[in-house]
Amino acid sequence: MNDLLKDAAERAARYLESLDERRVFPSAEAIAGLSIFEHDLPEEPTDPAEVLAMLDDHGSPATVASAGGRYFGFVIGSTLPAALAANWLAGVWDQNAGIIIASPIAARLEEIAARWLIDLIGMPATSAVGFVTGATMANFSALAAARHALLARQGWDVETQGLFDAPPISVVVGDEVHASMLKALSMVGFGRERVIRVPVDEQGRMRADSLPKLTESTLLCLQAGNVNSGAFDPLDTIIPAAREAGAWVHVDAAFGLWAVVSPEKASLARGIEQADSIATDAHKWLNVPYDSGLVFCRDGDALRAALSTSAAYLIQTEHREPMQTTPELSRRGRGIEVWAALLSLGRSGLAELIERNCRCAQRMAEGLTTAGYDVLNDVVLNQVVVAFGDDDTTRRIVAAIQAEGTTWAGGTMWHNRAAMRISVSSWATTEADIERSLEAILRIASNETGKETP
Ligand SMILES: *Cc1c(COP(=O)(O)O)cnc(C)c1O
Repeated sequence: MNDLLKDAAERAARYLESLDERRVFPSAEAIAGLSIFEHDLPEEPTDPAEVLAMLDDHGSPATVASAGGRYFGFVIGSTLPAALAANWLAGVWDQNAGIIIASPIAARLEEIAARWLIDLIGMPATSAVGFVTGATMANFSALAAARHALLARQGWDVETQGLFDAPPISVVVGDEVHASMLKALSMVGFGRERVIRVPVDEQGRMRADSLPKLTESTLLCLQAGNVNSGAFDPLDTIIPAAREAGAWVHVDAAFGLWAVVSPEKASLARGIEQADSIATDAHKWLNVPYDSGLVFCRDGDALRAALSTSAAYLIQTEHREPMQTTPELSRRGRGIEVWAALLSLGRSGLAELIERNCRCAQRMAEGLTTAGYDVLNDVVLNQVVVAFGDDDTTRRIVAAIQAEGTTWAGGTMWHNRAAMRISVSSWATTEADIERSLEAILRIASNETGKETP
């Protein structure tokens, strides 16, 4: 065991050291090399050292270098050193984090991290927090709590009676609602299309003046951080009025939540602490390993009513039992990494990470604009949406950038234009990474368009 773990640690260190020089997206040869894994399950065991060697020799070259500083695809953070080290130790511990009796340490660190996070957001200390796999499941969990509360008000116990014949609930979303929010709505039985879509402005923000009438049976889903532009719905305007009308207000803040920690950016998220529920990711901008998302719920009883389980053999205490606020029962102790990330950064480190990434996005946008390309969004956070010309030209350039390997960013359609999305969300991204990536992007784009590289 000792030799195996040392070997793993050495291989891991070599991998991390290689990130600076290697391609961001793996080469075609590396991907073709994955065919070595394609064989039938052997009859006989394989030595663990050999299993590890195979994984590293043929698996590592085929990885996407999102652990490094020049990956700007989707919204994908890396892993902070303390979070990675905590993940290794927690893996060795092999804790089942579902109930205190199965892991007092996992439950305790979750509880502490939850308290720190509630305090960072400014929600009431009595709010409940669930450590789930990602923002999709955080949205799902929040919607389950909302469903419980909105129907309980009308005398309907949805957990026992189900949804058939239940009183109606109207669901309101912005026109640029994230796909995972619609999926979560479908999973809780509200339906993807049985929603009122509110028009958005040119940045993708919900128009507060176009909201329908909200009532005590309305579920209003807002967004903090549009997945393309990074724009925030006007939370501070909408949330107080919606809650006054009795609606349940949920905010999908998968990456935008972290603006609250930055004195420079907090105004974007002002009012978020008044929401009934918030979903966020830790595996994006908090830079912990996959999979890690968080659901926050002001009415902790609603979240627990929607998600808790009981059975004679599942011994529960009067303390916070992790499984009461998640869809899962058995699960890994992902709160351990959240705790480690928060402790290692402190408030100032977290603010520095968020602000540095935002400055890097700003610099990227400046460089692209100076070169004559169209930055289509107001760069308010960590997202840059850029078009290089007509749609065909943009698509060609995005494909060429992805193939070249210095950096990687994804394509999108933004307000009827083909565009490239640049999301700066890794702790590992330095100003030098931005300059190197920008140089590659401008060089490749200028090959295609004939524009001079400034
Ligand atoms: C990434 C994202 C999600 C989904 O998060 P997962 O962790 O992939 O489940 C939801 N909403 C927004 C705004 C996102 O950016």
